[in-house]
Amino acid sequence: MISPLTRSRGAHFSRPPTTVSSMLSSIVGAGTTADQGADPPAPARATADESAPGSPEFRVEVERFADVRILRYRVPGFEALDARTKKLLYYLYEAALCGREITYDQKYRYNLGVKRTLEQIVRYYPGERDTDDFRALTLYLKRVWFANGIHHHYAHDKFAPGFSAAAFAAFVRGTPAEFPLRAGQSLEELIAELTPVMFDAQVDAKLVSKNADRDVLTSSAVNFYSGLTQREVETFYAERAVEGAEARVAHGINSRLVKVDGVAVEQVQKVGGRYTEAIERIVAWLEAAVSCAENEAQRAALEKLIRFYRTGSLEDWDDYNIAWLRDTDSHVDVVNGFIEVYNDPLGMRGTFESVVSFRDPEATRRIGTIAAAAQWFENHMPFFGRHKKQSVTGISGKVITVVIESGDASPTTPIGINLPNSDWIRREHGSKSVTLANVVAAYNAVRGGADREFSYGPAEVERNARYGELAAMLHVDLHEVIGHGSGQIERGVGPLHETLKNYGSTLEEARADLVALYFAVDPKLVELGLMPSVEVGHAAYDQFIRNALLQQLNRVELGKDLEEDHMRNRQLIAAWAYEHGLADNVIERRARDGKTFFVVNDYTKLRALFGRLLRELQRIKSTGDYAAIRELVERYAVKVDPALHAEVRARYTALDLPAYAGFMGPRLVPVLRGEEIVDVRIEYPDDFTAQMLEYADQYAFLPAWN
Ligand code: ZN
Repeated sequence: MISPLTRSRGAHFSRPPTTVSSMLSSIVGAGTTADQGADPPAPARATADESAPGSPEFRVEVERFADVRILRYRVPGFEALDARTKKLLYYLYEAALCGREITYDQKYRYNLGVKRTLEQIVRYYPGERDTDDFRALTLYLKRVWFANGIHHHYAHDKFAPGFSAAAFAAFVRGTPAEFPLRAGQSLEELIAELTPVMFDAQVDAKLVSKNADRDVLTSSAVNFYSGLTQREVETFYAERAVEGAEARVAHGINSRLVKVDGVAVEQVQKVGGRYTEAIERIVAWLEAAVSCAENEAQRAALEKLIRFYRTGSLEDWDDYNIAWLRDTDSHVDVVNGFIEVYNDPLGMRGTFESVVSFRDPEATRRIGTIAAAAQWFENHMPFFGRHKKQSVTGISGKVITVVIESGDASPTTPIGINLPNSDWIRREHGSKSVTLANVVAAYNAVRGGADREFSYGPAEVERNARYGELAAMLHVDLHEVIGHGSGQIERGVGPLHETLKNYGSTLEEARADLVALYFAVDPKLVELGLMPSVEVGHAAYDQFIRNALLQQLNRVELGKDLEEDHMRNRQLIAAWAYEHGLADNVIERRARDGKTFFVVNDYTKLRALFGRLLRELQRIKSTGDYAAIRELVERYAVKVDPALHAEVRARYTALDLPAYAGFMGPRLVPVLRGEEIVDVRIEYPDDFTAQMLEYADQYAFLPAWN
């Protein structure tokens, strides 16, 4: 019998510090001081093939395991920020990471227990590590880190460990370390408790079940409810709803609902409530951030966020969101809270996440330029005159550079964020829409292999390498800023979801994509300084056709039709243009070595085809012509050629590209003079396991059992 001991370096056994400077000393440890100077981070190893264009020294992809790869993004412009901005970002970075383990616990009540048990083994197991069992355990732990829990982040199925329960027990017994025991629990009891959790495939098999045949709560492993059926939860909130009125607050967004003595009770996540150990830290760092806020609007928003974490009040949450929307001028921005509700089968409870960022001025200027020219674009739409707006304003979006992400936003990340989620706040106060530029750039940097595989010739490959990233960014900008807002509906015609029903979203996405495509080759974009030449537009056309007719099929299971709106809209556009351009050979289907390619032969004629389809889709929307959109979608957008589908899947399999990607974050290191932060250095670690263990050491504030 090994006694659970003592060598834990885990911060979860230490007391919370009470001031920023004591937080600093506990976190920075033997950190840098100003006197030592800020050495530039050591250049990461380069691999010629995976690096971002123009930056051969930075390795984007650092590791692959199971079905994922770990990427890194750079934070361009960080070094050039002034010291106060860097300090503000550093405080928000700490606030983000302090909450990261809340996400584990929210997803499954055993996640922290499993994670910390395995971390102790990986840190301290003194025996032979070069064995199948130890390798399998390490792989399993990496998958847990990637998913913030023991269920797959996307498929939601529980991971199969790949090592036996007996091997697990032997590793625990053979590791002289402190394990996360419950009060009074023995090591053998911990092993007995975790064994079915990890090894019995039937126990809590699915993270989130939306199967309507069963009670979605009892068939989901998520930790948002305890002891309650779906019906009981629905009754609980029905009693709190005002008849016929829209719910003003986001019921349940920041709490867990449990049954105590037969009565449903909300356990609110706040200072002094559930997860207080982590939330107190978040609040302390946010308070530090207030001290170096850029302006009044930002200060007000941060203060309201702190207030919300202190009170747990849903009105305070709404207040915060409105204040956050009013903060439009700041350079630095932060999302920190219980935000997205996808992990709750009932769609009420938010999972912790944080995204800390600053504005990308150049890219934001690009969007501003496009938005300012919105009326020019509207006037030059290929629509019938009566379907053009007399007065149109572009949506002013923002492009951000991500500094750190945590919780539900990491390691897998969104590439765009539109918040807040509350309908009434969006309606009355608007929303903020951002693109995560450096994350998108990192994705683009590793797309090369697949793009090459599906490009026909060297000219297309070269065009994509040179202009592909800019083409993709401009496509998104035009789609969002001009596309969705363009055109008008004829008098007396109802809204889209009424007239076009289930085809409405496909039409609307196709319309926005066609607007982007139609203007992608317009010299106006060169005149506005948005692109160096119309060749960028040619790259956009290649990219769109290649993706719509070939590459996107990889995301669909063999034998299935296209269902997702964006996938349907792309195939609708490309297949329609292919068929209508056949006589002129506008898009040519070619074969080489048994592989299929679609090659754009005539960009001018393709643009004219896009314009024709765009005019027709606008007519359908403006007049609510359901029969016409049904005909188009069913004819072009749903069915997949099974032979081509199988070919695409086989080509991806041969490329051996993992299906999912996630990111490591950079590390911010405060540079101190005495206790004062005088600068912040950024480093780019490249060892995923080391980063996860470092986070486990520094940010494990919660008890293992909550
Ligand atoms: Zn869209």
